[in-house]
Amino acid sequence: MKEIYHDIFIGNEQDYYAIQRENNWAILHCCKHPFHCQFVGYRGTLPPTHSNYALKRIENEMAQYAPQPKQYVSGETFYLLGRGVRLKVEENVRDSISSDGIYLHLCVKDTEDFAKKQKMVSRYLDEQCRTVFGEIIMETYPVFQKYGVQMPTLRIRDMETRWGSCSAIKGGITLNKRLLEAPRNCIEYVVMHEFCHFIHPNHSKHFYSFLTMLMPDWKERKIVLDRSATFWL
Ligand SMILES: [Zn+2]
Repeated sequence: MKEIYHDIFIGNEQDYYAIQRENNWAILHCCKHPFHCQFVGYRGTLPPTHSNYALKRIENEMAQYAPQPKQYVSGETFYLLGRGVRLKVEENVRDSISSDGIYLHLCVKDTEDFAKKQKMVSRYLDEQCRTVFGEIIMETYPVFQKYGVQMPTLRIRDMETRWGSCSAIKGGITLNKRLLEAPRNCIEYVVMHEFCHFIHPNHSKHFYSFLTMLMPDWKERKIVLDRSATFWL
């Protein structure tokens, strides 16, 4: 499939970044670099002009695609490593939560206890983030150890505009919680990208050739990551 990308800034503040894939448009919340953009939920035909009126229209349209808050009832879909798992709420004297890759089994005493269910699912997803992101960091680290990079500390956060960031001074990598929804090889790409910043802080030519040397297919992974984002919402 041929991918067409256009950079279009809408509005004076350059708040939005639009990418086109064939006839579909995705509007991303903006920043300086596309990698750090996040999809905000619009697909469709872009209005012909980028006036304030058009921007308003995009915002109204986007509101329709805003993710719906979870109800924590059986049948709801959660995304883990690029695959949808369906929530199955069951009554049980003992609280437990686990996933077999198809279902997310949530056993609770009171199946109507929303706060309890929300807390259990959120804690489970946080644990998964820590496990999966931690594993990927361990796998990626040996190459950078050779360059004298210290093992970074991992921080996991809800971030509005970035998939990841790094602090060379503090020796830390911060990853967006929502990355857990993406296929594993996309998470690997984000981790690799952030690790490369320990060697090349900016998005310079050297940064990209270094990244390409270590992960020759990073562009394909990035496309999958961007595309996945459009399906999540
Ligand atoms: Zn970067």
